[in-house]
Amino acid sequence: MTANATRVLVLNSGSSSVKYQLLDMAKAADGGSAAGVRLAAGLVERIGETTSRLAHTPLAAGGGTRETTGPIADHDAALKAVAGELAADGLGLDSPELAAIGHRVVHGGLKFTAPTVIDDVVLKEIERLVPVAPLHNPANITGIRTARALRPDLPQVAVFDTAFHTTMPEHAARYAIDVATADAHRIRRYGFHGTSHDYVSRRTAELLGKAPEEVNVIVLHLGNGASASAVRGGRCVDTSMGLTPLEGLVMGTRSGDVDPAVTFHLERVAGMATDEIDELLNKKSGLLGLCGDNDMREIRRRIDEGDERAALAFDIYIHRLKKYIGAYTAVLGKVDAVAFTAGVGENAAPVRAAAIDGLEELGMAVDASLNAVRSGEPRLISPAYARVAVAVVPTDEELEIARQTYALVTA
Ligand code: ADP
Repeated sequence: MTANATRVLVLNSGSSSVKYQLLDMAKAADGGSAAGVRLAAGLVERIGETTSRLAHTPLAAGGGTRETTGPIADHDAALKAVAGELAADGLGLDSPELAAIGHRVVHGGLKFTAPTVIDDVVLKEIERLVPVAPLHNPANITGIRTARALRPDLPQVAVFDTAFHTTMPEHAARYAIDVATADAHRIRRYGFHGTSHDYVSRRTAELLGKAPEEVNVIVLHLGNGASASAVRGGRCVDTSMGLTPLEGLVMGTRSGDVDPAVTFHLERVAGMATDEIDELLNKKSGLLGLCGDNDMREIRRRIDEGDERAALAFDIYIHRLKKYIGAYTAVLGKVDAVAFTAGVGENAAPVRAAAIDGLEELGMAVDASLNAVRSGEPRLISPAYARVAVAVVPTDEELEIARQTYALVTA
């Protein structure tokens, strides 16, 4: 790696998509959590279909998004197309300024507690985790293989969604089921969205003018998928997602917590197959299952028009959130801040107001005018008198992956 190699390509490979960002991390070493300049970003979707689409935005070069449609057969073709777009902006993958490629990997099990340079052994271990992450890890592996083939000489780093949660104590991570059975099948709570919880909890500490070690934060990552975490002094002590991303909060299309006996009941009484139940709970439940919409904007619009199903879906969503805020307050003992992040958390003021409403006894309150401000910056929305800071802290998983990747390869 040359001394002026300061760029990191971040790849988030899904089963039929690749999201990517190219960042320059030149100032990242000393610049706090937000350092890093985005040079380009884009998305390839519907890989393997005839209607694949590549949308590339050359942020550094200026100019709008370039779109190409047409068949992109596989991840290899997708990455080559991305490389072509980057090269057109003078940012090609063969550039000596590229320091590393950082890959989002969803499941790192218990072994991967930190970002890891990928070699054959590491890749094998990520493959060994496919049974616990059948929907995610195979796509991540394909992305890694493709990128390694394209630039075998370049460090490739895996940044795991689960890593931040590996600090959870055993009493939070274990389910109360037979230990031998659980261990034989690696059944335990792993948690997800870790890169976001990590980044947002640190940014929240910064917003309070403190070091991460000095504060306890409840992070509410509310996107289409949603999870809460309790972070004590910079270390995760509990999180709402479990063996899979199904557990916990009500999400766009996932149920979150249900009595596990619901699945037996659906099998025995409704005659549903395991895969059908899986699909029901992961893709047809949550806000979508409750009211037919999974987008919070649409749900709020319907509520404003007096739609009762949308109102009930919203209330169920908020009730679950409150339960986790209460639970994590008890787990942490003392809370310095509650941070809202991701699509819903950053944008939906009514969700923030409703989730915190009535929690004055816990030291939590939201100031209506601060809550109404729209901004892309981290900000406080609690009144000055509140004992607990309530904050909106935009997440940036790509920046965090780039930061961790760059820190590892320049260490
Ligand atoms: P993902 O989990 O797919 O990364 P995001 O974090 O981008 O999701 O969040 C997507 C969700 O954010 C949308 O489904 C929508 O419900 C919500 N959202 C985005 N913008 C707004 C807004 N202005 N008001 C309310 N909700 C919003």
